[in-house]
Amino acid sequence: MSILRRFFHYFFCLGMIIFNAGVWAQDKPAIAIIIDDMGYDKALGQRAINLPGALTFSFLPYAPFTPELVENAFSHGKEVLAHIPMQSFEPKKLGKDGLTWAMDKSELTQKLITQIAKVPHAIGMNNHMGSLLTQDREAMQWVVAALQGSTTEGLFFLDSRTTKHTVAEAVAVESGLATARRDVFFDHTDDEQAIKEQFQSLVSLAKEQGFAIGIGHPKSKTLKVLFEVLSQLDDYGVVLVPISQRWVTKRPIPESLQSSGDGSVSYK
Ligand SMILES: [Zn+2]
Repeated sequence: MSILRRFFHYFFCLGMIIFNAGVWAQDKPAIAIIIDDMGYDKALGQRAINLPGALTFSFLPYAPFTPELVENAFSHGKEVLAHIPMQSFEPKKLGKDGLTWAMDKSELTQKLITQIAKVPHAIGMNNHMGSLLTQDREAMQWVVAALQGSTTEGLFFLDSRTTKHTVAEAVAVESGLATARRDVFFDHTDDEQAIKEQFQSLVSLAKEQGFAIGIGHPKSKTLKVLFEVLSQLDDYGVVLVPISQRWVTKRPIPESLQSSGDGSVSYK
């Protein structure tokens, strides 16, 4: 990085910190927005990165445009996550190094670490698919242990919740790993009105919980709606913050995830 860019980056980051400090002083409900599945479509990915505000971007490690778009996102001051493919119940292609139920601990750990290394600047990960693997308590314990290992220390696990039976967040809570859950998917239905309604649900949840997390994808209609609503956040009564701010708020751990006292965790 040239000295000029380094200076620019420094002042940009400083500005973001001051901006965030100002935001928190107002004590408004906060939302974090993650755009995942990044790296396959260069034009839509770049459009997503150009959206105004502190969005977070999650990259598929082996996608062709991931190396270039990661650097673009990072130099725009956006937070970066690794989007790790995990086995689904649906017969979808998992891609290279995707984590499967058939792997033993050492293979799964190795593949996870290899994938994360493909996404420079990542401060955490969330699962891509994974409706099968995130229900497997032992596999999730291996994932959490890998994230607590020396090569990936400090990374958090955002549970995309591709199944309501996921135990990923609960296992991370038990192990003391920083974790969070996706509250709303914006674009299951690729329709502008539906996406707007999902955004409204995110806002309502943020007002209830203090903080809420939405996940969308680099799709044309999603980006169009986000561009529109991001300019109206004051009217919605929420602030947009990067995902890392999740752990400086006082959102309580849901009762369903709290330890029952004997070391086990109860699920609702
Ligand atoms: Zn995904």
